Amino acid sequence: MYDVIIIGAGLSGISAGVRLSYYGRKVRILERQLYPGGLNSYYERGDRTVDVGLHALTNFVPEGVRNAPLNTFLRQMRIRRHELDLCPQTFSEIIFPQCSLRLDNDFAAFAAQVERLFPDEAAGFRRLCERIRQTDALSPTAPELSARAILNEYLSSSLLQDMLLCPVMLYGNPQAEDMDFNQFCIIFRSVIFEGFGRPRHGMKPFLDCLLKRFFDQGGELSLGVEVTRLIVRDGRIAAVVTDQGEELHADAVLSCAGALETARLCSIPPPELASFPAGPIGFCETMFELNRRPRELGLEACVIFRNCQERFQFSPPAKDVDLSCQIICMPGNYQQCDDIADANTVRVSVLASPARWLALPSGAVYDKAKSNVVNAQIALMEAWKPGFADAIVGWEMFTPKTIERFTGRVNGVIYGSPRKLRQGASDDLSNLFICGADQGFLGIVGALMSGAAIANRHLL
Ligand SMILES: Cc1cc2nc3c(=O)[nH]c(=O)nc-3n(C[C@H](O)[C@H](O)[C@H](O)COP(=O)(O)OP(=O)(O)OC[C@H]3O[C@@H](n4cnc5c(N)ncnc54)[C@H](O)[C@@H]3O)c2cc1C
Repeated sequence: MYDVIIIGAGLSGISAGVRLSYYGRKVRILERQLYPGGLNSYYERGDRTVDVGLHALTNFVPEGVRNAPLNTFLRQMRIRRHELDLCPQTFSEIIFPQCSLRLDNDFAAFAAQVERLFPDEAAGFRRLCERIRQTDALSPTAPELSARAILNEYLSSSLLQDMLLCPVMLYGNPQAEDMDFNQFCIIFRSVIFEGFGRPRHGMKPFLDCLLKRFFDQGGELSLGVEVTRLIVRDGRIAAVVTDQGEELHADAVLSCAGALETARLCSIPPPELASFPAGPIGFCETMFELNRRPRELGLEACVIFRNCQERFQFSPPAKDVDLSCQIICMPGNYQQCDDIADANTVRVSVLASPARWLALPSGAVYDKAKSNVVNAQIALMEAWKPGFADAIVGWEMFTPKTIERFTGRVNGVIYGSPRKLRQGASDDLSNLFICGADQGFLGIVGALMSGAAIANRHLL
């Protein structure tokens, strides 16, 4: 008998596990994959460890900054900053055909650039930032508002509106076209008020550090064990059934697998969770391995949000992918990361249509669709940074189909359902709780905060 069984060793599940085991709760995490970390996991290729998707640890602030999510999380986990070996970014860029903005973990410098490039918008931008600071975006009762409508109230330049929406939507908008303003505030703070860093050697040491804390406190983790059924009786989860034939019992069950995904495991469908819509926003990402440092080709930033059209569009494409906007990440450009194993890697991500990718049969048709996208990405990069194509020595690509197969996320989406269960509990089942992407905190630090917050609110 456990106090809490956690479905999934995603970052939110692990962080909840650390918090609960610290307070003496008997906790077991069940993870269907052989590696922990969920959407931000890693795998082994020969003697190299490859990150599944690490671009940036958002919310990066220096040590000692008070009330910052990263520092709050570290304090709650009793982890010292140096244990995670975090490196700040050098700089990142938002590139549009009309102009560019630079992000370098210094909000005052960012605001000064906005005022220089858009002098007529200076006062509106300051007032918008003040509104973002004042918004209690984490409140479970915060009303849902349109981010586009609110930006339009403060800024008359559609270019500036788009340049602010571009990195924020690409790094955490679960819905098409518009964005909930609360979600906008959470991501804007994490990307623009705060900034980017990365664990120097990627996710494995980062996850090892969290899991060491979990194990030292008596936590149990079972990798390669899938929860196949949640037996519902008298409005509660009475038992957790695994693909190993075990039937486990716990006072509470916490899931980071997604709201709809968890509902589908229940023997009696829980109405609220089962009505969560599947997310529409998918991505394809190609990891290009080069024979030289990306800097030698003029790719000097850590992350580039590059929009090639006049207006920024954020919706599932009618074709397999939308190449008009790309996120381009160079892990080796972070400070003190020149000699990491990923120093020659360039990650190129584009919006993808989950429906089209999931409909493709595995095998030759799917492989052809992937190579078409890779060839188009190479042509795009070559036209922008000549020499890119010749520098490629290998590539690997994931699609929404890969994500669905790997994590069980319906539609293979990264940011979960457009609806969020902010309080982490529904009226459906008294001892079932949801953390992670469908609770509303996204990204690495967001997921970590979510697990700790739901553990604090409901399970301690
Ligand atoms: C390619 C990619 C790149 C990304 N890059 C970044 C980045 O650079 N920076 C950033 O901040 N964020 C990034 N993210 C987003 C970030 O990874 C996620 O927001 C965050 O990790 C979500 O964590 P989670 O705990 O909510 O859920 P998940 O990571 O989805 O974890 C859910 C876990 O539950 C497991 N599971 C599901 N069903 C079952 C079951 N029935 N039984 C047992 N286990 C089950 C899954 O296998 C998975 O491990 C990226 C995501 C992807 C996919």
